[in-house]
Amino acid sequence: MNRAAATRTGQSAARQASLREHNLALVARAVLESPAPCSRADIAAASGLTRATVSTLVDRLVAARIVAELPPLAPQRAGRPAVPLAPAPRTVVGLGLEVNVDHLGGRVLDLTGAVVAEHVEPDDLHDSDPDLVLARLGRIARDLVDTVTADGMTVAGATLALPGLVDVRTGGLVVAPNLGWTRLDPVPSLGLDDGTPHGVPVTVANEAKLAALAQSGRTVVPGAGSAPAAPTSYLYVSGDVGIGSAIVVDRRLFHGGHGWAGEIGHVVVDPRGPRCRCGATGCLEQYAGKDALLRGAGLATTAETSDLVAALDAGRPTRSRPSPSRAGRSGARWPTTSTSSTSRRCSSAASTRRCWRTCAAPSRPSCATACSPRRGPTSGWTRRPSATTPR
Ligand SMILES: [Zn+2]
Repeated sequence: MNRAAATRTGQSAARQASLREHNLALVARAVLESPAPCSRADIAAASGLTRATVSTLVDRLVAARIVAELPPLAPQRAGRPAVPLAPAPRTVVGLGLEVNVDHLGGRVLDLTGAVVAEHVEPDDLHDSDPDLVLARLGRIARDLVDTVTADGMTVAGATLALPGLVDVRTGGLVVAPNLGWTRLDPVPSLGLDDGTPHGVPVTVANEAKLAALAQSGRTVVPGAGSAPAAPTSYLYVSGDVGIGSAIVVDRRLFHGGHGWAGEIGHVVVDPRGPRCRCGATGCLEQYAGKDALLRGAGLATTAETSDLVAALDAGRPTRSRPSPSRAGRSGARWPTTSTSSTSRRCSSAASTRRCWRTCAAPSRPSCATACSPRRGPTSGWTRRPSATTPR
């Protein structure tokens, strides 16, 4: 065989292998995302694949302990009864890890969506040491991996959720103002290197974005078959000490130009408001974050949400402006970009139009020409609010 023919043969084999993997993923997704057990015939009808191909692929998934065959249903007509297929419980599992301002921990879920192990430790992690916290989380993760492995389960991978901006290309943390963490790669500190006895591949993402994705897959949870189908496109808002959100379009995250779409916690709602840990003033978190709500009710920030509800039922709080005691301590500052959704009023005396940035120059002729967002953050823009700015 000459070189050209060998190349064509190799390319054809690669295409065949790729097609088989694509079809295998198609069948697996059909079972995993089905709100109720489905049969081989159902998958063939929905996918357009032949019943023989579907049957072969299902057999591979059953052997890999990804799909389980349930007891056959009573036949509706003559012939072999259909074998319902469902995600296999307690076989292949995923490990979710999280560091947030008031807790850290991990949770293991199987393919049905059931929690098979978890460990959560409440703690105050404001201005914490990332190396110490991540090492502690790594120990929790290793204990969880040991527990489920001893029960015969296989951990396919882990995802670390963090309350801050995560670079979607590198997985590095850009900034988490409430933790006081900035610019670090959190994975090595976990000590879960792939290839070790506890090793699992770890990916990192923003916690609100992961929670949003979890909503899109909630129909795989047992018992959800009769529940309304989850929407495929939606805005998810996460409220805790910090506030985040995520935009999901057709079950996929919309990241935006910088990968930070949906980061509403640091959108300024009042430029003259209290200083935020991100370096700006009057961010949404300073009014609607958990700490702000607890302080507004006259409670310590260590109080439980139930205490806040009790205070509300008792007629508290009285109206008061938030005065975050911790604000400004952290050196972790929110990055400035020309497409930030931070909205301020222009300080120019010539105009009261709303701009995307406050223009530092006092005598600009108009916002429309002087304060164009296209000029970006390096050409005379500042995040400083103006005391004379009309509200
Ligand atoms: Zn902020």
